[in-house]
Amino acid sequence: MNPILKPDRSRIASLESLAFENRYAKLPAPFFHGVSPTPLMGAHLASFNAELGALFGLTRDDANQQGFVDYFNGSRDIPGAEPLAMAYAGHQFGHFVAQLGDGRAMLLGQVRDEQGALWDMHLKGCGPTRFSRGSDGRAVLRSSIREYLCSEAMSGLGIPTTRALCLIASSESVMRERIEPGAMLVRMAQSHVRFGSLEYFYHRGDHENLRKLGEYLLQEEFAHLRGEKEPYLALFDEVIRRTATLVAQWQGVGFCHGVMNSDNMSILGLTLDYGPFAFMDTFEHDYICNHSDHQGRYAYHRQPEMAHFNLACLATALLPLVNDNSEIAISLLRERLANYWRYFNDAHLDIVRAKLGFLQQENDDLELWDELLLLMEGEVDFTLFFRQLGALSLSSPTHHPLRSEFIDLPRIDLWMYEYRQRLQREDSCDIDRRQSMDAVNPKYILRNYMAEAAIRKAEDDGDYSEIDRLLTLLRSPFSEQPAAEQYAASAPVWAQSIQLSCSS
Ligand code: AMP
Ligand code: MG
Repeated sequence: MNPILKPDRSRIASLESLAFENRYAKLPAPFFHGVSPTPLMGAHLASFNAELGALFGLTRDDANQQGFVDYFNGSRDIPGAEPLAMAYAGHQFGHFVAQLGDGRAMLLGQVRDEQGALWDMHLKGCGPTRFSRGSDGRAVLRSSIREYLCSEAMSGLGIPTTRALCLIASSESVMRERIEPGAMLVRMAQSHVRFGSLEYFYHRGDHENLRKLGEYLLQEEFAHLRGEKEPYLALFDEVIRRTATLVAQWQGVGFCHGVMNSDNMSILGLTLDYGPFAFMDTFEHDYICNHSDHQGRYAYHRQPEMAHFNLACLATALLPLVNDNSEIAISLLRERLANYWRYFNDAHLDIVRAKLGFLQQENDDLELWDELLLLMEGEVDFTLFFRQLGALSLSSPTHHPLRSEFIDLPRIDLWMYEYRQRLQREDSCDIDRRQSMDAVNPKYILRNYMAEAAIRKAEDDGDYSEIDRLLTLLRSPFSEQPAAEQYAASAPVWAQSIQLSCSS
């Protein structure tokens, strides 16, 4: 029970009338551990995502009621919710770990939005479960703010992602590299099934439950594939396509996930588990956002390859579902996995052309892109450059975004000349091109310094206003927001030393 605020026993009707349909909870016992959240001391609402809440009939007025957090904090049951921690395994930094699972998260249940789509309502940071492996089951405020903001920023960018309904802060201390305030996030997603969920049963040799999970996925998440002759191959193919497209989208906005372990890979191709992620400021093809990643396994340029590695882990887990004869199953799954690079390259090239404002295709488009990245390397802000490139006028030869920041001026001048020639060959129209480029090259991204400023205000002063400000800003990353011009700048010097690690 919350020791600081007097409990408010008035009911919040919109929360109590959420019609839970707990499909995952109907799976057999080995799939999860039924467990209730452990209330956080001094829990209070830090931010409510009214836009997402509206999909479920939840309003800001509801969220502002004193009792609102009690429902998510475990101090009070939400009728119909059946909290559980999901079991999963995963390849962490290349090594298989047989027992992971929600060590600090719980699926409360599944609820429908106003369109009828079913979403998982999930708590992160809600106390220990059977899968906590000696850790405290908590999340810190710092990381919860980062996940809250970044998942909504991703959604604003049109990149598939889990989302966040609200952020709950607390007066509870949590021990990490230093003592930090604990917090909780209410995370929403169509599914929290991970590649590692299938690996869990495969590697235990529990093929019966592996099949049940496969059937569950075909029933709940991939129902359109049920009539396929080889539904699990079709499912794998779709996961490959979604994952390849997701990673191509990440690359296109300079996003580094930081911990692409197979337990953090969503079966639906959503960006899942925001830890030490970062959007790059200056372009660096081998940028590493996670300072615990000493080998650079999850560096920016390796993300496509790491997704392929994870899909190979998933393929292994799918073997028994595809064919009883493992030789045949291996060959069929290999054949599908080979499509990955085609899916990735196609998605990547579409994104490259859109970022450069090309309507037509030319064979050398990728070369032009690669040459540009070589010139930007270590010098030029990735986001600002593309946004400013969109303002180019073919009739005025002087426009040259961020020219003074390039080191090799003759080479970037030549690049700009070739770029203009390329646009002229397709009779590109300045106004139309700017409009289409501005729709894919964001003006506002969640730079580390922005998240850091919101974190400092929240930690030092209990002031959560910057979180709400950023949430509104990042929801429309492609729109000009004149009052928010300061957020379109590259990182200030003080923020260049921010270090991110897995510890959260
Ligand atoms: P992550 O690096 O956040 O993807 O977490 C990897 C695994 O460690 C998952 O099984 C998490 O549930 C678990 N885990 C991470 N942090 C904690 C924590 N503070 N308490 C319990 N389990 C945790
Ligand atoms: Mg994780």
